[in-house]
Amino acid sequence: MDRDNVLLTPGPLTTTLRTKLAMLRDWGSWDAGFNELTARVRGRLLDIVHGGDTHVVVPLQGSGTFSVEAAVASVVPRDGHLLVLDNGAYCRRMGRLATLMGRRTTVSVQPENAPVDPEVVAGLLEADPTITHVGYVHCETGTGVVNPLQEVSDLCRRTGRGLIIDAMSSFGALPLDARALRFDALVAASGKCLEGVPGMGFVLLRSEILAACEGRSHSLSLDLYDQWAYMERTGQWRFTPPTHVVAALDEAVAQFLEEGQRERLARYTDNLRTLLDGMGALGFRTFLDPADLSPIIVTFHAPSDPRYDFRTLYEGTRRRGFILYPGKLTEVETFRVGCIGAIGRTEMEQAVDAIARTLAEAGVTRVS
Ligand SMILES: *Cc1c(COP(=O)(O)O)cnc(C)c1O
Repeated sequence: MDRDNVLLTPGPLTTTLRTKLAMLRDWGSWDAGFNELTARVRGRLLDIVHGGDTHVVVPLQGSGTFSVEAAVASVVPRDGHLLVLDNGAYCRRMGRLATLMGRRTTVSVQPENAPVDPEVVAGLLEADPTITHVGYVHCETGTGVVNPLQEVSDLCRRTGRGLIIDAMSSFGALPLDARALRFDALVAASGKCLEGVPGMGFVLLRSEILAACEGRSHSLSLDLYDQWAYMERTGQWRFTPPTHVVAALDEAVAQFLEEGQRERLARYTDNLRTLLDGMGALGFRTFLDPADLSPIIVTFHAPSDPRYDFRTLYEGTRRRGFILYPGKLTEVETFRVGCIGAIGRTEMEQAVDAIARTLAEAGVTRVS
């Protein structure tokens, strides 16, 4: 069938035809029209978090991780000390990239099946005054758990610590307001809940800390200060821009503004409910406590039936038009289903149906 599969993954995800069509043009990087496009996207990204007067936004080529790495490199001084709260794979990734670039890093391992406890963060900050910054993942996409943000932000403000937030999989879906939420850097990307295509990230930086970022980065291409200064001076990207990705993001952000953040969250929440109803009826259990589930991605326990394996489930649902995602946990066998992207209730119902038919075909009867 000449039709795209529905992506139930945490990025890339299913995009609208409007977003796809925006990529059917070759832009020159010096083109005034392309620079206008970049400026419009930047302005709108700032507006989304109400950061227009107090923050700047620095777009960066590459997948989301490039922007997390750039944020750590540019915000944490070389003699700084980063505390990373680790309740999943993306937290661990932040810890690893900070360690690799030579920043002193403390990774605090927390239970993977629950949100981070702000009391624990408070205790860690109190116990070690050398910690200068906290690295924090908002929605840990490895399991789908949402970590409490406001409390940790308040805590960092109170104790004079910097805060770097990886809001990759929550930006656009969950409310984020820079007037209430204090952070040094907040990182997200084009190909997640803004429903653009993957290929660039962006970092929102508090203007007050910007000047101190100059010269900190060990990396040329991941230097957010340089990227910002060049863009301010010329209106252009410092190195070759991902032109088609920027054009798609511009169109995706326009649709985001038409839909509204609250309505987008309501749609994702409806996707979550539809998924849970359907999967629950098939006997599936979620890895997280129902109270901790997010409308971004859900981790399900794999069926206990010996005839089950993820490959077969993946291939069978793929043939039926839906792309699932493997689990990211080492201890228990799981798989993940995303609720995000340009999809709604119909796609979620069809996805559950595709899962049910695939399991039946494989003779899997014992689900939980
Ligand atoms: C998607 C994602 C990233 C970035 O992953 P890439 O593969 O580099 O795009 C980082 N953190 C979180 C929480 C994510 O969901």
